[in-house]
Amino acid sequence: MRHKRAKTYKKLMALYSTSFGFRQPYQVLVDSEICATVTKQKIDLPKQLAMVLQGQVKPMITQCCIHELYLQGKEMQPAVDLAKEFERRKCNHREPIPANECLASVIGETNKHRYVVASQLQPLRAKLRTVPGVPLVHIKQTVLVLEPPSDVTLQQKLRDEQSSLSTPTTADADLVSSAPSTTADADTPRTRKKGPKAPNSLSMKKKVVKAPPAPKARPRQEGGQRQESGKKRKRDEDEGGDGQEGGEGGRKRRRKRKGAGGADDGVQATADEE
Ligand SMILES: [Zn+2]
Repeated sequence: MRHKRAKTYKKLMALYSTSFGFRQPYQVLVDSEICATVTKQKIDLPKQLAMVLQGQVKPMITQCCIHELYLQGKEMQPAVDLAKEFERRKCNHREPIPANECLASVIGETNKHRYVVASQLQPLRAKLRTVPGVPLVHIKQTVLVLEPPSDVTLQQKLRDEQSSLSTPTTADADLVSSAPSTTADADTPRTRKKGPKAPNSLSMKKKVVKAPPAPKARPRQEGGQRQESGKKRKRDEDEGGDGQEGGEGGRKRRRKRKGAGGADDGVQATADEE
């Protein structure tokens, strides 16, 4: 995947996780069409999904979608085999319904289970663009692409941000400007006003660290720390002693030990205190 596209996808997934609570492993509902397409084109779907979504993925398929593959006969056997590897998502449709209806019903009006949808069905994807927070993936020619966020997704994101009193960031502008098309070319010419977030680490002078090589250093360092904390502990005790015991109890003890011949002792103790 090209660097720029990878960056766009990363930003997009960051949007889904911060604004909609998506977490890895991303649950990806795949439809029957995409299973058929990837087996024909010999695309490693889970691997491609992980690359595009940039994280761990859990592909899932509904009973209705698997059923649809069965209906298509022997030709579809490789796609069926692939689909069987995926976790089955119960959709509770007793009589199997068409894949697009099934997936639309599983997503519902809010996508509350936070599914990514990988589908080759145009009408289904169009419908799911009206639900905020549904990442959509499909195969374009031989490449898996992640769609730009839908309008309702961006609107909800902005609403959330406004309600939490934060101002929209330039990242939104970037995403909006990349919205019209998914092709790789779309994200090439873009004016960027954003400066670097942090100094380029490559252009910075490296700090001179006089540490011995890592594997050897560890035991010694730990030892040092232990020693230091040991010292500190001792110091604390000493201070405590001066303040409390040494002040009275200590002196008394000494006096008791040495009996009444304690004139020197008293002097000694005050000297100590000073
Ligand atoms: Zn179903």
